[in-house]
Amino acid sequence: MKKIAILGSTGSIGTQTLEVARENGDLQITALAAGNNIELLERQIREFRPFLAAVWSEEKARELRVRTADLNVKIVSGMDGLLDVATEPEAEILVTAIVGMIGIRPTIAAMEAGKDIALANKETLVTAGHLIMPLAKERGVRILPVDSEHSAVFQCLNGERRERLHKILLTASGGPFRGRKKEELRDVQVEDALKHPNWSMGRKITIDSATLVNKGLEMMEARWLFGVEPENIQIVVQPKSIIHSMVEFEDGAVMAQLGTPDMKLPIQYALYYPDRRYLPGERLDFWALREITFEKPDMENFPGLRLAFEAAAAGGTMPTVYNAANERAVAKFLDRKIGFLDIPQIIESCMEAHRTVLNPSVEEILSVEAQTYEMIESRW
Ligand code: NDP
Repeated sequence: MKKIAILGSTGSIGTQTLEVARENGDLQITALAAGNNIELLERQIREFRPFLAAVWSEEKARELRVRTADLNVKIVSGMDGLLDVATEPEAEILVTAIVGMIGIRPTIAAMEAGKDIALANKETLVTAGHLIMPLAKERGVRILPVDSEHSAVFQCLNGERRERLHKILLTASGGPFRGRKKEELRDVQVEDALKHPNWSMGRKITIDSATLVNKGLEMMEARWLFGVEPENIQIVVQPKSIIHSMVEFEDGAVMAQLGTPDMKLPIQYALYYPDRRYLPGERLDFWALREITFEKPDMENFPGLRLAFEAAAAGGTMPTVYNAANERAVAKFLDRKIGFLDIPQIIESCMEAHRTVLNPSVEEILSVEAQTYEMIESRW
């Protein structure tokens, strides 16, 4: 039995990770952490019987303790609770399916405790990749990508010499507004932005897909995971999300990983790597598919992607500003306080106002995050 702990078990990736565990039957869940959804967390505890579970607020933790009093599970709360789940002694792998930069400290703690990371929480690598990747090397732990594009690249690199990798071709669906001009994006509503053409995901990442910020975050994630400079990461729009990403080697050979869009594949691949397991579901039917088309990304009407390349080029704390400004702007858009086009506008203003600090520590990263939030609260 492989033992795993999950941060963000009640979310889109978290619940699909538990589905993979349920379908395979040989993964033991030792610890779970969630934010607020204690109803679902209680059901998960009853089914998977972890030793430890965390919720964010102590008030919810108290309520959950009462609800699970008949079970042998310890309920903890707050950042200490997340750190306890991340370092739960029996777990071999931590699945980081929590959303936001709150994932940084637990991810580092888990690595320091010698655990492999199945990484969905891209914000951690985007903002602290310069700390995470050397730490993984130092501790001899693996960072196994869960994001479908990065899993595709990881699969394409299997058995290859990393130094022969020339370029990453990161595919993008283009989101629900592909082909629209700025004037047509001004009045789009939350409901329209939440309709992703191919993937069913959490709300924040779905909005990020509509602004192309998600692709920008993925570019920065790929940069750290695979040690490739941003100029060697090309974004290729492929609207049907059939090619999950590609790599080009020095000899010009291009390898791609294809499949129907299903996050359970990369989740399962990360959990059983280097093995593959049977996964029920639809298979690619090339006769039905008939064609796969490609386009250039539109960075003019979707400046969120351009800004990501600028943040990556600046380095240091700039990706933190990009990410934190986006996080807050997306929350405001979801609350209907700002318009869709305000999201990249807010990111750009925050980036312009920021003086980059190179090689930031975790404390500096978190302090820049807080300053960015403050700036947004005072201006918008
Ligand atoms: P969701 O919003 O669906 O889930 C987020 C999870 O994090 C929930 O379980 C939530 O708990 C939990 N959470 C939030 N805040 C806290 C907190 N303070 N303490 C503890 N738990 C907390 O997000 P997704 O599953 O979509 O995304 C998770 C991560 O994976 C993101 O970084 C995203 O970019 C990445 N990702 C997602 C993909 C997808 O297909 N969804 C694909 C690739 C990457 P609760 O609901 O109980 O409040």
